[in-house]
Amino acid sequence: MKFFKMKLHNQIVLALILGAVFGAIFHIDKNLVEISFVENEVKKSEQIQNWNSFTFISDKPAVFSSNDQLLIIQKFKSFSSEERKQIKINVDERIFENVKSIEKVKTIAIYIKPIGDIFIRLLTMIAIPLVLASLIVGAASLGDIKRLARIGGKTISIYIVTTAFAITVGLVLANLIQPGTRMPQETKNELLATYQTDASKRIQTEVDVDVMTQIVNLVPRNPIKAMADAEMLQIVFFAVLAGVALTFVRKDKQQPVVNFFEGLSDTMIKLVDLIMKIAPYGVFALIAATVGEFGFEILQTLIWYSLTVILGLFIHTVFVYGGMLKLFSKMKVRTFFKGMRRAQTIAFSTSSSAATLPVNMECCEENLGVSKGITSFTLPLGATINMDGTALYQGVAAVFIAQVYGMDLGIIEQLMIVLTAVLASIGTAPVPGVGIIMLIIVLKAVHVPEEGIALILGVDRILDMCRTITNITGDAAVSVVIAQSEGELRKPNLSEA
Ligand code: ASP
Repeated sequence: MKFFKMKLHNQIVLALILGAVFGAIFHIDKNLVEISFVENEVKKSEQIQNWNSFTFISDKPAVFSSNDQLLIIQKFKSFSSEERKQIKINVDERIFENVKSIEKVKTIAIYIKPIGDIFIRLLTMIAIPLVLASLIVGAASLGDIKRLARIGGKTISIYIVTTAFAITVGLVLANLIQPGTRMPQETKNELLATYQTDASKRIQTEVDVDVMTQIVNLVPRNPIKAMADAEMLQIVFFAVLAGVALTFVRKDKQQPVVNFFEGLSDTMIKLVDLIMKIAPYGVFALIAATVGEFGFEILQTLIWYSLTVILGLFIHTVFVYGGMLKLFSKMKVRTFFKGMRRAQTIAFSTSSSAATLPVNMECCEENLGVSKGITSFTLPLGATINMDGTALYQGVAAVFIAQVYGMDLGIIEQLMIVLTAVLASIGTAPVPGVGIIMLIIVLKAVHVPEEGIALILGVDRILDMCRTITNITGDAAVSVVIAQSEGELRKPNLSEA
């Protein structure tokens, strides 16, 4: 079949487009809910479409109209199980009692999501053994602790500088475009009401912001637990030290350990190849489910905000990384982006830097010619601490929310955003949706109401997909620059890209 003869990258892009179309066709109907209730001790369910009025009858009746699907579901969830037994629901004069649940009606696009979940899990499954094994081998082959400190210092510094750059790009655009002042008051009220409950749940999430605690936490008490909890920084710390220590061990004892981890790392890389064979199906399912559930309509409501974030991500990804590669490496910018296509599509569809890590390592090593020693150090570190896309988005979001609330952020506050967003992005876990929780720290620092995240929650999933592309591309660009400076950049090979 022609499809199977296509290059993998093209298969994934096609799957992405088809998935979006499929999701758009089989999207969740916003005017349909399923009510489950108990009548004469029998559990029943009924689908209600296009209601005009939907009322919860209690001491304080709550009345909703035709476009309030999300509000209705949230209102019902806010009742305790005792209260649920008491209240009656009146939908266009049809009365429901003893209601057990009110849910959206899932479509086929949502039902196929487990295929996508399996794909993300497979990639995440190999990330930890791959990082551990390749880092131990990498550190052992570098051998020299001074060299390691030099590479580490360079990598972390460039990561921080590029992140600060990213936030600046975001802030400049948000100040120029002023997305918050372009939003009508009624849209603001509608978004705040719809996402209020969801927003307060996220605000309650405990986040540790103490820098000293973070530094202490770098050292795992138990490396096995670090691996079990996917604490990437702790794993990097342990593996680097173990690799360095290995170079001091007698040759006959050292070799079997190195051979073992080398074998393990090669096995994981083979696994990436195998997993990528199902990538088109995984990507199709993930995109179909996301579009089916969230749709593109919300993008229209928040069009200026979304455009500001996407434009910022584009400028940073193409021009800042492009400029950096031009200045500090011999690699052609086109070659870099061609070699990165596969990792970028996976980042977009999974919204997770951690799940993309194995693919990113493969792209950097095989397509771009970065040595294994460099990728196995810079990329896991980058996936954990370097999130330029997230930082840029946090900058735009903070200014946007402030603008909607009519607050004017001065230069001091904007500098504060740069500082806190650098820290917040370092602390953001490389999985979907964490950027918005860390945004709360940025908002707190500049006294912008945290509840404001309700305004942007609706589009967060789609923007998360976009910012994850920038996050992983930044890691790879820095990896290339470091490899160049260490003389560890081979000729790129795009035959498999
Ligand atoms: N999803 C992002 C990542 O994995 C993190 C975030 O911004 O939420 O890179």
